[in-house]
Amino acid sequence: MQNKAIIVGAGTAGLILARELASKNIDVEVFEADKEVGQHADKASGILSAEGLKLLGIDYSDAVINSLYGATIYGRKEAMSLNAKKLMAYVLDRKLLAKILYRDAVAAGAVVRLGHMLDRKEIKELGADSIIVGADGAVSKVASAFDFPQIEKYILTYKAEYENAAVLDPHSVSLFFSSGSRNFFGWTAPYSKSNLEIGIGEWMGERRNSYSLFSEFVKTPKIKESIKNSVKLKGLASLIPISPRRKTVKKNVILVGDAAGQVKATTGGGIIFGALCAKTAAECIINSIRKGIPISVYEKLWRKRYGTDLALHMQLHRYYSVLGSRGIDTMIKISRSFGIDRFLEEYGDMDRPSLIIKRFFYKNNIR
Ligand SMILES: Cc1cc2nc3c(=O)[nH]c(=O)nc-3n(C[C@H](O)[C@H](O)[C@H](O)COP(=O)(O)OP(=O)(O)OC[C@H]3O[C@@H](n4cnc5c(N)ncnc54)[C@H](O)[C@@H]3O)c2cc1C
Repeated sequence: MQNKAIIVGAGTAGLILARELASKNIDVEVFEADKEVGQHADKASGILSAEGLKLLGIDYSDAVINSLYGATIYGRKEAMSLNAKKLMAYVLDRKLLAKILYRDAVAAGAVVRLGHMLDRKEIKELGADSIIVGADGAVSKVASAFDFPQIEKYILTYKAEYENAAVLDPHSVSLFFSSGSRNFFGWTAPYSKSNLEIGIGEWMGERRNSYSLFSEFVKTPKIKESIKNSVKLKGLASLIPISPRRKTVKKNVILVGDAAGQVKATTGGGIIFGALCAKTAAECIINSIRKGIPISVYEKLWRKRYGTDLALHMQLHRYYSVLGSRGIDTMIKISRSFGIDRFLEEYGDMDRPSLIIKRFFYKNNIR
């Protein structure tokens, strides 16, 4: 029986898992390819729901860049604005968040080996006498070394920050669902009154270059106007897996976070669900080491807890992907006329569509 856990990857999922295990006195070692945690974290954005963050049990306050109270959804001609009275989300500095998680994991007793890129052979060898966790991101070597099923759907992204931009509402994000392709979405997220992040995502199957899509997107009138006197800072391309693997545990190997595809297909947000699944993985590893319960229970447990919401995100993603610009405009118009915008302002939840459905039927304090 294995009595040690080895985690490949010190991203958010790997570090949260390391902290959970080490704080329960489990022997845990993390291997990270980069020399510093969060070295490439600025490839991604840091928009995280306030409700979701509460569940992670971290003091993220030093990483907060901005607070968000609203969102506007744009079709080609129509738009729908949501202005919640309560704080909905934060924009976090991803590098600082990584450093906070690293500090917590090490303080709890985890050993984190930075600058160690493991290859397939090394990963397999480590698997001989330990529980191995693949927390190694979108293109997981652990998953390929142990022949896990492929991730079926990826989104290609490109994002950049603009300084000295004209930010219309510094506490509201904008989401854009209309552009030549049906599988496209764009976003703007304010960092302050004058700094703005702009990004795009498109299904990899469209085989288009994310930088050229981004260049087209920033020429659309609304975006062009807001950045006309601004300076573009660094722009970065990346990849988001948006469908969970059909299998995420085998013998003594577990996958968590992007490596498992535990990401919201609507927006590509993966931190909250990845971290919650990492906490579930920790429970299973502890029970396996202490009580001999097979770690295979992880599969059932995370799917029972979070599978429905991830599946609902995928359904919504599929729905808006087939609608096209006109269909999106129609959907926005219908939503406004039924007062769905007002309902979402009061009862919306960025992570858990299942809660919105329940609240729609019961309109009371369902948690
Ligand atoms: C443009 C963009 C915007 C995003 N915006 C948001 C957002 O606003 N909110 C949100 O919640 N999510 C967002 N995401 C998704 C989010 O970034 C990911 O879901 C999250 O980072 C996944 O965390 P992870 O720990 O699973 O993987 P990663 O963060 O990818 O960490 C994996 C780690 O493993 C290491 N590694 C890989 N291979 C090896 C190896 N062989 N040996 C050793 N180490 C290895 C890597 O160096 C890396 O540090 C966005 C993603 C992108 C690309």
